[in-house]
Amino acid sequence: MKQKERPLASLIAGIDLGGTKILAGIADQHGHLVAEARTETPAGKSGDEVVEKMAGLLRQLLAQVGAGEGELSVIAVGAPGPLDPETGIVRQAPNLGWRNFPLADRLARHFRVPVYVDNDANLAGLGEYEYGFQHRFRDLLYVTVSTGIGGGIIINGGVYHGVSGGAGEFGHMVIIPDGGPGCSCGGQGCLETLASGTAIAARARELIARGGGKALLALAGNRGGDITARTVGAAAMNGDGEALDIVRRAGYYLGIGLANLVHVLNPAAIVIGGGVANGLGEMLLGPARQEMRRRVMPVLGRTVEVLPGALGDRSGLLGCLVLARRMKTGAGDISSTVQGP
Ligand SMILES: [Zn+2]
Repeated sequence: MKQKERPLASLIAGIDLGGTKILAGIADQHGHLVAEARTETPAGKSGDEVVEKMAGLLRQLLAQVGAGEGELSVIAVGAPGPLDPETGIVRQAPNLGWRNFPLADRLARHFRVPVYVDNDANLAGLGEYEYGFQHRFRDLLYVTVSTGIGGGIIINGGVYHGVSGGAGEFGHMVIIPDGGPGCSCGGQGCLETLASGTAIAARARELIARGGGKALLALAGNRGGDITARTVGAAAMNGDGEALDIVRRAGYYLGIGLANLVHVLNPAAIVIGGGVANGLGEMLLGPARQEMRRRVMPVLGRTVEVLPGALGDRSGLLGCLVLARRMKTGAGDISSTVQGP
């Protein structure tokens, strides 16, 4: 049952695939979101099972707006990287347990439309640019602070990928070269080990192991292992000095990372998003901004703004829709197509 006013294959779809949740949306050809839904990422399941769940979510959305699968023209997916946007192969996603998984190809088998894949942080940055900041800035750097730390480099409204698709891995800038905490990348002292949600929770547990953090422990029901960045944020919000120190320390390290970025790229804007940054707000951004300004060459510091994201946890999904629309209209120059059989 196709509605007359809706031309065939006019809908575009975006799927933001995270380690814990999948957020999907369908938009009209102008990029206006008409339906969205979310579900949990199946933990410990194979790539094909995760793809099955993504496809099911899209079918549910199509049914919700009364559209058939034939009305879908293109799908764009934001996935954890590193990945290859040219082939849609996810090279390595530790949270999902994937290595060299052909995500675009597998999803294309379900819908027989082109599927494009890019790094989730790149697309979140693209979403923040297009739906949030493009009228103020031509370029921006996007930093996501959540379980880990990622980033996207948006130049002239497009994503800068680097030679092998890995540009913007801001979380692995080395901040403490010797003796810093070990990182999932195999290095040590990376920004991610000092300012991510995982790092904030680890600092809280270390504090408790030293006999401190009474308020934090109480908030976590005396289960130290249950403490997350959210617990630390809640305690800090309640005025707990120890929790506030942990958040400020994370902000301090984030500020050092931002100073490095400013010296490399001289951006007009750095937009900070991600679940942990969104939750902590100025408690994290204030110290980060202060430390960044203290460390950058004044001429560069005067012209950069550090701003919270405008889209909350929908930046990634909206970025997928930007990519989908650009590829549909031929305005995209990133990623490549993988056509269904
Ligand atoms: Zn690292």
